[in-house]
Amino acid sequence: MKNTDYLNRSSKAVWHPCTQMKQHERLPLIPISHGQGVWLYDFEGQGYLDAISSWWVNLFGHANPRINAALKDQLEKLEHVMLAGFTHAPVIELSERLAQLAPGNLGHCFYGSDGASAIEIALKMSFHFWRNSGQSHKIGFVSIANGYHGETLGALSVTDVALFKDTYAPLLRQTYQTPSPDARLAEPGESAEAYALRCAEALAQYLEQHHATTAALIVEPLVQCAGGMALHHPIYLKRARELCNQFGVHLIADEIAVGFGRTGTMFACEQAAITPDFLCLSKGLTGGYLPLSVVMTSDAIYQAFYHDEVARGFLHSHSYTGNPLACRAALATLDIFAQDDVIATNCVKAAQFTQAMQPLRDHLRVHRFRHLGMIWAFDVADAGANFSQDFYQAALQRGLLLRPIGNTVYFMPPYVMEMEEMALLIQGTLACLDAT
Ligand SMILES: *Cc1c(COP(=O)(O)O)cnc(C)c1O
Repeated sequence: MKNTDYLNRSSKAVWHPCTQMKQHERLPLIPISHGQGVWLYDFEGQGYLDAISSWWVNLFGHANPRINAALKDQLEKLEHVMLAGFTHAPVIELSERLAQLAPGNLGHCFYGSDGASAIEIALKMSFHFWRNSGQSHKIGFVSIANGYHGETLGALSVTDVALFKDTYAPLLRQTYQTPSPDARLAEPGESAEAYALRCAEALAQYLEQHHATTAALIVEPLVQCAGGMALHHPIYLKRARELCNQFGVHLIADEIAVGFGRTGTMFACEQAAITPDFLCLSKGLTGGYLPLSVVMTSDAIYQAFYHDEVARGFLHSHSYTGNPLACRAALATLDIFAQDDVIATNCVKAAQFTQAMQPLRDHLRVHRFRHLGMIWAFDVADAGANFSQDFYQAALQRGLLLRPIGNTVYFMPPYVMEMEEMALLIQGTLACLDAT
């Protein structure tokens, strides 16, 4: 088979995500035949450096031998069993290990199949907790301006990205958006910390008035990724935690994108030394292999559902809840973290990468260069309306998979990226900046 054999067939039979399909009249799809480490290959052998970890999911490269071996072993034992009334070793082991790794006392794991379903679960659980606790008027949710939490109707209600949300507004719940602590929005001369505190003050004022009808605040800790890799100071999370405690409102931490080492610690919440009431994880959870998400919560929440009455239980379900293959991939991923001391290794690697990016930081079009853990981003000056798409095409022509968000170019590479590959990425990005 050749690339061209797939092009027409795919745009006819497959409706691709986040895509105006008509654009594929001009922009051909890239059929991928196989992957290896940080590389994806098409059917003619052209390689693409996966600098965005295939939408932020891949941690240890494509076709990782250790995750492959674990999955082959699991396939011979149990591919799937329903999780209502039944259980299995991978889901038990994964839940115990996640509880050990997560901050605080988040000892109860509820599984879904993707990020958005984890958000739905957290929102429903928070509401249902208050209802079970005799506070059924707590039905409101507060989220952060420019935040992203997925695109099912509940998750989209707390998302604040106009392009994804406006069309569906008539279908959505009303929620409240509090100002984003995005450090780029600070006044000239104002530090990221001072600005974060100013945003926390706005949150305090809202909660003071509306806490009686508010179930939860949902945040993306440290980085609003889909919002353009917007970084904020950890003091915001510290204050948000204090305010949620003070006003009796749950804190939902959406670490779907930033969990599993992306920000330099296993979980972003660690950098603010806080424990949320609900921790939502997905993307990197299975190392980018299989769809799986989890909502972790405390015994205090769990106990409010534990009762003789059936309807007080959390009756939410998905067919593939706790799929054994996905759980095994997640366990193999956690094994790699432990065996290779990944958090410490990444810290050294990230410092070297950042240093190698000096020519990028010096480029005339590069503004607000920012870095946290294994995320690098910058905004591009003089970016036209089609910048994102033009840059994406220019990068593909140079064998790089990069998908800017608006005028923000970012790198979110798999952790197995080596300096040689990073050097290619930097050279290619410089060339794209001069070409677009
Ligand atoms: C990707 C993402 C989601 C949604 O996850 P899906 O698996 O795409 O449904 C939710 N929250 C954040 C922060 C994300 O980055």
